[in-house]
Amino acid sequence: MEDHARLEEAVAEIAADMAQRTDRGAVASYIPELARVDPNQFGICVVTNDGKVVAGGDADVPFSIQSVSKVFTLTLALGLVGDTLWKRVGREPSGNAFNSIVQLEHENGVPRNPFINAGAIAVTDAVLGHHQPRETLGEILRFIRHLADDEAITIDQTVARSETENGFRNAALANFMRAHGVIDNAVDHVLGVYFHHCALTMTCRQLAMAARFLANGGRHPTAGHSVVSSERARRINAIMLTCGHYDGSGEFAFRVGLPGKSGVGGGIMAIVPGKASIAVWSPGLDKVGNSRLGSQAMERLAKTMGWSIFGP
Ligand code: GLN
Repeated sequence: MEDHARLEEAVAEIAADMAQRTDRGAVASYIPELARVDPNQFGICVVTNDGKVVAGGDADVPFSIQSVSKVFTLTLALGLVGDTLWKRVGREPSGNAFNSIVQLEHENGVPRNPFINAGAIAVTDAVLGHHQPRETLGEILRFIRHLADDEAITIDQTVARSETENGFRNAALANFMRAHGVIDNAVDHVLGVYFHHCALTMTCRQLAMAARFLANGGRHPTAGHSVVSSERARRINAIMLTCGHYDGSGEFAFRVGLPGKSGVGGGIMAIVPGKASIAVWSPGLDKVGNSRLGSQAMERLAKTMGWSIFGP
């Protein structure tokens, strides 16, 4: 198929070009495990809805997915508690940094959206429900392995420990929300699960595979069943578009035109509804904490393939 050839060419060109670049941005430095990552890496993988997998660069190098995991926990939470989730977390872009606390004070401890840290912590509380952290983490891991058709996906325990030791801001957010009754479980349990799902380690290939259901009207392409309804898939994509890059979400929509979710490990997952799922990774970040080369790669790929939700 002609589109496949064009896709293979685009991915190869982007990977070759990104390998040469020197303007990579700075890697996250709040924990030693991320600060140590070699910034001279770039990976890309695209999985089309007809099952073609096109990978380039360091597509098989595992990295810390960090906030990209928030898409999977949101999906799980909606499955568990349905639309009652929206009582404790909003759906509006925040325009503030991912770890900001300011809006919580004005909005009774209800975070603006599920993809800023406060929102993801509230979502994690819903996923935890009345279970033990260990069981919940097992459930999250099983879910992601199932989505990706890959049993090799794991959580990096060293990263999780470091996040716990350095997560003072996240602890502040969680405590503030607990004080407002937005979080029901013990703060240390909720944070434990949150830090561990942020510490999921995946490759671009695994991430693009795990995202397939969102490109596919909510259906798992190989298992054949619905992970979520098509309406829910659309809504998750909508929140990724409006909130997936924090205070850089407008810029990502403007430049790329696709729903996407970034993480401070340098990963970005994006969805071309009805067509494909994409993962890119480059550890150097821009000033709001999104992968610098990753965003540029997404922009180029979307442009070359004519992939924008806003029109051809
Ligand atoms: N674990 C990180 C944190 O909680 C995730 C942030 C991110 O990827 N933007 O600060």
